[in-house]
Amino acid sequence: MYKGTLGNYLVKSSLPKKYQPQGSNFGIREVKSSLVDLAREDPEAYSTVAPEIKKLGDEFSTYEGLSVGLDDIEPEYKKRDPIIRSARSQILKAKNDNEITSILLKTQKKIKDITKTHSGDMALTANAGAKGNINQLMKAVGSPVVIGDATGKPTPYLIERGYSEGISPAEAWIGAIEARANGITAATSVTGPGEMQKVMANMMSPLVVSNTDCGTKNGILMDPKAKSIEGRYLAGSNKYVDSSMYRKLRSAGKKVKVRSALTCEADGGICQKCAGRDNYGNNIDIGSNVGIRSSQALTEPLTQMTLSARHGVNLVSGKGADLKLRGLKGFKQLVEMPKSFMHKAPLADVAGKVTKIDRAPQGGFDIDIGGTAHYVPPNRQLKVSLNQTVEAGDVLSNGIPNPADVMRHKGIGEGRKYLAESLNTLYDDEGIRADPKHFEYLAKTQFNYVKADTRLGEYLPGEVIPYNEAKKLLKDKSQTIQLSKSKGMTLMEPALHHMPGTKITGSMIRDLREAGMSKVLASDNSTKFTPIAASAIRTPLFNPNWLQRLGYRYQKATILSAAASGEKADIHGFNPIPGIVTGEIGRGFDGAY
Ligand SMILES: [Zn+2]
Repeated sequence: MYKGTLGNYLVKSSLPKKYQPQGSNFGIREVKSSLVDLAREDPEAYSTVAPEIKKLGDEFSTYEGLSVGLDDIEPEYKKRDPIIRSARSQILKAKNDNEITSILLKTQKKIKDITKTHSGDMALTANAGAKGNINQLMKAVGSPVVIGDATGKPTPYLIERGYSEGISPAEAWIGAIEARANGITAATSVTGPGEMQKVMANMMSPLVVSNTDCGTKNGILMDPKAKSIEGRYLAGSNKYVDSSMYRKLRSAGKKVKVRSALTCEADGGICQKCAGRDNYGNNIDIGSNVGIRSSQALTEPLTQMTLSARHGVNLVSGKGADLKLRGLKGFKQLVEMPKSFMHKAPLADVAGKVTKIDRAPQGGFDIDIGGTAHYVPPNRQLKVSLNQTVEAGDVLSNGIPNPADVMRHKGIGEGRKYLAESLNTLYDDEGIRADPKHFEYLAKTQFNYVKADTRLGEYLPGEVIPYNEAKKLLKDKSQTIQLSKSKGMTLMEPALHHMPGTKITGSMIRDLREAGMSKVLASDNSTKFTPIAASAIRTPLFNPNWLQRLGYRYQKATILSAAASGEKADIHGFNPIPGIVTGEIGRGFDGAY
């Protein structure tokens, strides 16, 4: 016997058995993901199934006539009032704003839960993910409970009523601030994402598929449960992960090493194997610009994020949750890495033992690590304890580490990985599922330059060098050495996401052990260059090719400096601009323009 709604039953039975969503309580996300799998693996069947499901929708919207009545927005007095009453009495006992905020956020969650059970078609469509959003309905039939200020920070005041019953003048007054901020956001919401689109397209444009296989045996370690290992190649064996291989790997449960842009060793661009296959299961053609495609895929949802904030879809972020980056602001912060990084996690500047943890007079903590003073701001949970040994770059409390700091302490590879993962988390938190490969492309192109510490080939100390160039200039005597003896030496071969030229740390050794390595190629000499953590806005200006730089900002300065220092430019590089400028486009080799 089938248990579930008629709609779920009908949708389920239109899909081939293998692609039916599990259970009987699924929504639009599950259906979409089933359809994507089907399209990829059996395009023939997809071409009949997809119109079938669309027809179901058309029929039901015509004959059923779902519509909104007053009962849809009838206030949820019975379930809501006890929750609000209990919140009110808890708030009276609260000692400070932080406590009030945390009570409010817990209450908001409860009101959201009861809204999910609200009767009527509005709750039905919102729950299924078809139309509307449960947070909006919550504000109407339950209560917003807590409203943000102009910056989105929660105002510590309990909103007791919902919009369908009408709020009090005081509640309206508090809500007006958020409403006004949202109005401004709406008016300016497309300019920010538009700017980011241009910056990203410029920064990521060198990632053109340039050859069939760079030949690396290296890769990044991924969780076998991550759906995104599908469509990639396994590192070493070069086996393609299709859906049946994915299921095998998932049930084996071991971490898998897969090819990735982060570990591709192609001289320019990226190779087919490291780029993986496209949604149709085909290798990506040589000459395809996966960087520009990804920049589009990444920046398009930014507008959506800004707008959904305005439509009240996002909940006010709270304590715990308020150490999360959100939306366009969060994205910009991660790629621009300003000094005043919001919710920044303090990191250990040096390696050593934690010898002192004191409460600071102004709030927060004073921590001493190996004789160096560190400060942790108020309202943070410490992540270190007395006498613990830490590494430079370890986090001292909760918060968001600045990618620039991570790279400074742990090298270009770890910096790239961290940036890619943080961006992925940000999109996930916004309910946007993006292929992690996009973030890997971004991280690779953003953290792409180093500064020479000593003379390196033709480069003088202080000169900016593309990382791939710098890596080739590392000509130290290297030896294969046991991992346990390698700490403090310089890594001389790519190992997972860690890149040559990086100082080997304890955490790197742990990473490599996890991947089953016991030895590594390393050198005694110190590192020769320092990775540059520049904002995505500045990164395209490091490009050594002045004609390519012309596709970006500051053209006048670019022309002046190129003329003054007699710069030369390859017309057929992995950036279309010089080809377009000179009319020579399309005459390059191996994917170059
Ligand atoms: Zn490659």
